[in-house]
Amino acid sequence: MTELPGRRLLLVHAHPDDESINNGVTMARYAAEGAHVTLVTCTLGERGEVIPPELAHLSGAALGGHRRGELAEAMRALGVDDFRLLGGPGRFSDSGMMGLADNDDPGCLWQADVDAAAALLVDVIREVRPQVLVTYDPDGGYGHPDHIQAHRVAMRAVELAAEAGCPVAKVYWNRVPRSWADAAFARLRDELPGLPFEKAAGVEDVPGVVDDERITTEIHGEGTEYAAAKAAAMRAHATQVTVAEPYFVLSNDLAQPIITTEYYELVRGERGGGEGREHDLFAGISGGDVTEEAS
Ligand SMILES: [Zn+2]
Repeated sequence: MTELPGRRLLLVHAHPDDESINNGVTMARYAAEGAHVTLVTCTLGERGEVIPPELAHLSGAALGGHRRGELAEAMRALGVDDFRLLGGPGRFSDSGMMGLADNDDPGCLWQADVDAAAALLVDVIREVRPQVLVTYDPDGGYGHPDHIQAHRVAMRAVELAAEAGCPVAKVYWNRVPRSWADAAFARLRDELPGLPFEKAAGVEDVPGVVDDERITTEIHGEGTEYAAAKAAAMRAHATQVTVAEPYFVLSNDLAQPIITTEYYELVRGERGGGEGREHDLFAGISGGDVTEEAS
């Protein structure tokens, strides 16, 4: 078995595109620094709405297959080699938006037994032994059943892995500080007339917005190659996202700012890095805050 690098990061997401929108800068940075970055995506997003008219015929398994290709292209843009689907492709399907009949599909992630799904993630944790795990908050950021379930599966897997002697030192939830969101959306409203988008989203449309005090950690990306890699990764998800930097739209066609400095709330483990916000997810982890590969 090949020895993995000293720093190992695991991200747990619901659909292809969530990883790039939420964590593209973080993934690009740690991959570039030689850390081992593992992405586990829980579904192929088979119920996503398709933006480009020429791809509008795609739905169900065909859309899932197409999105798998988009995910692979996004991972090339971020420099991430290790990306997997929880339990393998098609094991859990997209549950659709909350309240739809799709939520009752027995094969969908929303209907999955959390312990059984978490056991599949524990297998990945035991193999990769990540010191850091990143996922959504208990509301899944914005209430989508697959995001809520991805959160539950990730948090349960951390408990089960610890019981199995494979603890994850730090767990973070994706967050956006309210002050940043307020300022970014004010700028967006000013710039909207010059953009290729008709309407703007509001702060309430952004998942994970919280008061600034709750932010423990920020990964700087503004103006860096990592922000460029993030935009490229978002573009790769062409069925779901249209990018016009520094903005993008989802299928609702409402413009939003691309988050180029990514924010987190540490919810398990010890904060490192001294006073103020951490600038490294591995801060305080012994052997973790070295930049060299330990191989
Ligand atoms: Zn999603």
